[in-house]
Amino acid sequence: MRCVACKKEAKVKFIYAFCESCFIRHYEKRVRKLINKFKLIQRGDKILVAVSGGKDSLSCAEILASLRSIYKFKLAVLHIDVGVSTCTDFRTEEVIRSFCKERDIDFYIIRFKDFLGVDESVDIKELFKKTRRPICSTCGMLKRYLLNKFAREAGFNKIATGHCADDITKFFFKNWFSQNFDWIAKFKPFTPSSHPKIISRIRPLFECLEMENLAYVKFKNITIAGYSQCSYFLKKDKWDRLLKFIDEKRPDFKLNIVRGLEYIKIEVDKDRPLRECEICGEPTDRQVCSVCTFKERLSLK
Ligand SMILES: [Zn+2]
Ligand SMILES: [Zn+2]
Repeated sequence: MRCVACKKEAKVKFIYAFCESCFIRHYEKRVRKLINKFKLIQRGDKILVAVSGGKDSLSCAEILASLRSIYKFKLAVLHIDVGVSTCTDFRTEEVIRSFCKERDIDFYIIRFKDFLGVDESVDIKELFKKTRRPICSTCGMLKRYLLNKFAREAGFNKIATGHCADDITKFFFKNWFSQNFDWIAKFKPFTPSSHPKIISRIRPLFECLEMENLAYVKFKNITIAGYSQCSYFLKKDKWDRLLKFIDEKRPDFKLNIVRGLEYIKIEVDKDRPLRECEICGEPTDRQVCSVCTFKERLSLK
């Protein structure tokens, strides 16, 4: 197998075969093209990138760090410690901390346990199980809430996440089948703020595949944290199997889905406009936001 660019021996093949250095160049070029096309970064931006310690978020942080001198923006990393031992490697914090130090990036960490005001000994997973909500949805809800609140209060104007074509494709099918069209409308490389208290989102890896992110961190010698992905999330469902099946026949399938999503416009009827939560003041479409409702249900202050 030969590299399509330089004809040397190829190391990877996703859609095209590449050698190591041509792959890195091709990958970075594709991300830069997306950033330019959707004007994801402006001079003077203050961007907070959410880093779990896995291949996707670290690829995102790495590429943004390398672009600071070109686009002239400020970059910082936030790690949210979910405090579930099966989901977080004990080295996670250390891995991200040294990644940031080597690249001169400000590092911030917030912990679910501190926010919920529970003891270190409390098992977060057991705590979450006390409500009827699925654990993954509680975890996602808290992460989104804390990420937005922290970014706003610390003066950032954009939040970057490592969502890649695999995540987006899966979310797309799941939400399409359950007719959550207002969610699909948000699956764009850039999601502008919809409320003065909501920070805009950018997804620089929108057109990158999970396996490409893995190759990227490997070729760039970036240490990733072992169990930085949630163990519930890692459980493969029927969508993963279906998408894998299609992938084998059409390796460019996911790329074509996300590129399609970049173009389509979905009109969403918002019957409940956003307002501020009566308890915490964060944006919500209800009187009391889902995080405050959750805390009330568990009798947490
Ligand atoms: Zn090459
Ligand atoms: Zn609230």
